[in-house]
Amino acid sequence: MQRIALLTSGGDAPGMNACIRAVVRKAIYHGLEVIGIKRGFNGFMEADMGPMKLGSVADIVQRGGTILRTARSDQFLTSEGRAKAYENVKRFGIQGLIVIGGDGSFRGARSFNREYNLPVVGVPATIDNDIPGTEQTIGFDTAVNTAVEAINKIRDTATSHERAFIVEVMGRQSGFIALAAGLAGGAESILIPERPFNYDEICEKLLQGFRRGKLHSIIVVAEGASGGLEVGRKIKERTGFDTKVTILGHLQRGGSPSAADRILASRLGAGAVDLLIKGATKMMVGVVSGDIASINLDDALAQTRSIDLEMYSLAGILSF
Ligand code: ATP
Repeated sequence: MQRIALLTSGGDAPGMNACIRAVVRKAIYHGLEVIGIKRGFNGFMEADMGPMKLGSVADIVQRGGTILRTARSDQFLTSEGRAKAYENVKRFGIQGLIVIGGDGSFRGARSFNREYNLPVVGVPATIDNDIPGTEQTIGFDTAVNTAVEAINKIRDTATSHERAFIVEVMGRQSGFIALAAGLAGGAESILIPERPFNYDEICEKLLQGFRRGKLHSIIVVAEGASGGLEVGRKIKERTGFDTKVTILGHLQRGGSPSAADRILASRLGAGAVDLLIKGATKMMVGVVSGDIASINLDDALAQTRSIDLEMYSLAGILSF
């Protein structure tokens, strides 16, 4: 293998740049040439790509977002779109592709591998942390830290009685951010899409807390569990308490990546290059028990990653 390409795809995640840097520098270290593809699969189809050198990735390890930019592409869902990308594989002499993104991006990479046999390696980067085959995805730690910082600040202002603070965090299908931020932020209740919840219980807990003199009550809601405003309305209806709702939204995607995310991104990016060099054809790199591991993309895409129910019940116990 002499020349590999990389792209970032799907939603951006803090740490993608640290991963790009690791891929480029590790590949060059092993004597490979690297092509950076811009705007995800769009740039792959439109030949928006060019060589990357050691200096192309200078001064980015600490930056959020992705210097290669990212995109969602309807055209790549079609075989015509992927055929256009294959023309560029031939034109640029690409022998392996590293896709940094979420499960949708991996499906795209797998479709391409099936049709054109190009070796592909996925690097899990999404703030949602919902990818099987790895204990953590790039961006999750930073997003959780952002949410916890926000909860800390809200807690500071939440010193008056009879008021409930609701913080809506990202997670349309999964409650990883809500659970981690709720536990770390000391939330009274955590609402996630994976677990049923009952407003009467939430309100009873809130009332109990205030009866025993709690000064604030914070409820963390994953956007997929319910809208924060809706939760606020229901609580007000049942308890009469004033509710303040904060929707963190895209704040959670931005910002300089945490040290943990930079380290994870560096290790996974380097691991992806190693996999291609070793002859992987359709794999995802991950971290399992703290070590760099790999899983076949088919297996990773066939599974779903479940939240840690023990952690969920611990958060419930600690919040009384
Ligand atoms: P995030 O988790 O942040 O949403 P993602 O990688 O899951 O990231 P998606 O929008 O689901 O983001 O997927 C990114 C792109 O991958 C899509 O816009 C599309 O171009 C491509 N893609 C997804 N599924 C397929 C598929 N089955 N075949 C070909 N391409 C696909």
